[in-house]
Amino acid sequence: MAGRLAALRSRIAAAAQIHGREPEEVTLIAVSKTHPTEAIVRLFDLGQRHFAENYLQEAVQKITALQNRQIIWHFIGQLQSNKTRAVAENFDWVHTVDRAKLADRLSAQRPIDAAPLEVCVQVHLGDETNKGGVLPEDLPALLDHVASLPRLRLRGLMAIPPEEPTPEAQRRWFAQLRKAFDRARQQHSGLDTLSMGMSADLEAAIAEGSTHVRIGTALFGPRSTNAQRD
Ligand SMILES: *Cc1c(COP(=O)(O)O)cnc(C)c1O
Repeated sequence: MAGRLAALRSRIAAAAQIHGREPEEVTLIAVSKTHPTEAIVRLFDLGQRHFAENYLQEAVQKITALQNRQIIWHFIGQLQSNKTRAVAENFDWVHTVDRAKLADRLSAQRPIDAAPLEVCVQVHLGDETNKGGVLPEDLPALLDHVASLPRLRLRGLMAIPPEEPTPEAQRRWFAQLRKAFDRARQQHSGLDTLSMGMSADLEAAIAEGSTHVRIGTALFGPRSTNAQRD
C-alpha cells in the first residue's frame, strides 16, 4: 500500500510538473468502494485524507466505523432522489449532482449543524447513455440554481468521459470539461474544483487542469466484480 501510494504521488507530481503546475494543485481522492475499512485505515495512517465512495449502504457503514478519524468523504456514485438524505447527512462532498431536484433535496436535508455540502456538478460528455451528468447546454441554469441554495457550496465540475485508446483522444474530452469550467467561472468566480481523472487517465486530466483526481485501482488494486451494490 505504501509503495502504491508513493508511486501514485510520483505520477501526479510528474504530470503536474510537465505541464508547469505544482503537485499541490492536484488533490488525490482515494476511491475506496468495494475495499474494506482496514484498507482505508492503512492509507489514512500513511497520510491520505480524502476518500470517495459510490454505494451508500457500504459507504455509511465505513463512515460510521471511521467516525473518529478526520477523513474528508466524497460521494461519487450515481445519485437518485431517494438516496439524497444519506449523502446530505454523511458526506462532506458530492461530485454527481446533475439535476435541480437533487440539489434541492440535498440542501433541504443537509443538517443545520454541519458545514454546507461541497458540490460539483457532473457534466455529461460523449453519448454513453449509462452515465449521468447534465448536458453541457443545460449546465449554466443548473449552476445558477445550485449556487442559490443555502446549504450547498458550489465548487466546480466533474465528468467521467468515455474511455479512449490514446492519451491524446482522452485529453480532448478533458479539454471540453475544462472549457465548460472556464465559462462557468465567468458566472461563478468562486469555482475552484475540476474533478477529473482516474487510474488510467490521470495524466491526461492533469494536463487539462484537473484539481481532483479520483483513484481506485492504482491505489487499492483491482475490485472484485461481484462487489455488493445498493
Ligand atoms: C470507481 C470510480 C473511480 C475510480 O476508478 P479507477 O479506475 O479504479 O481509478 C473514479 N471515479 C468514479 C466516478 C468512479 O466510480
